[in-house]
Amino acid sequence: MMPQQPARKGAGANSCEASPIGGSWKIGRELKNPRPRLQEEGFFDVPIRISRRPGKMQSRGRILIVGVGGLGVPAAFALARSGPCRMTLIDPDPVELSNLARQVIYRQDDLGKPKTECAARRIRGRFPNVEIEPRVIALDPDNALGLAQSHDFIIDATDDPAAKFLINDAAIKTRRPFVYGGVIGMTGQAMTVIPGDTACLRCLFEEPPGQTEVASCREAGIVGAVAGVIGEIQAAEALASLSHATPRLAGRILTYDATRPARFRTTEVPARPGCRCGAWIGKSATPSVHQ
Ligand SMILES: [Zn+2]
Repeated sequence: MMPQQPARKGAGANSCEASPIGGSWKIGRELKNPRPRLQEEGFFDVPIRISRRPGKMQSRGRILIVGVGGLGVPAAFALARSGPCRMTLIDPDPVELSNLARQVIYRQDDLGKPKTECAARRIRGRFPNVEIEPRVIALDPDNALGLAQSHDFIIDATDDPAAKFLINDAAIKTRRPFVYGGVIGMTGQAMTVIPGDTACLRCLFEEPPGQTEVASCREAGIVGAVAGVIGEIQAAEALASLSHATPRLAGRILTYDATRPARFRTTEVPARPGCRCGAWIGKSATPSVHQ
């Protein structure tokens, strides 16, 4: 859920250490042994290099993914592909028939079962070095601060505008970075928030959308391919943050329009004076656009 264009008010919002599998010798060995002991045979033995600056990735950093649907599934898989990492998945919903086409991690025999548990089982089965905790809960005002506090980075993968603002406010209070994501039809958006340093969701949208706007976004639907792109970008932002690099979308909103030749555009988001995030204090930002 997200607005078609960034707007000031009322528009609505809707580590890992990693590696590809090494040389051909390893592939040959795996063919001889159909059940290789992945942790002992170097499945993740080639470190990824995200930052040019010295320093190791915070491989033990814990990532919270709120929502295991169109955005959360590709984000979780992208993180798992990147190497050993720790993540918590939260989502109160069971797998429904309408999920199967877009959220490819789920199967027909998952119908009615909690999404988080099904997703965790599949990811563990494929990536044994990933530490993953599934929780069948919704983010709410009672648990938001505690969940944010106990994680190092948050991925907003929910389609509920109220939950997006709850993530924003909890992240600001606990000073945890997070990446916002949203998809409507063939367009997707993502923006990373570094609390106290870059603009937050309330700098961009100020207030959650009204019910009419939410309903029109739901009618537009979500294209799975676009959600996949945005979810993967969100995972990359999490990896950058945990590796102590500056996420590329910190203070910038990326818009991906699958119907246009210049598909990716990023726009600087200035901090809004008076916003509760405080990122505006001592700053004067001039918006700029890059493609
Ligand atoms: Zn703000």
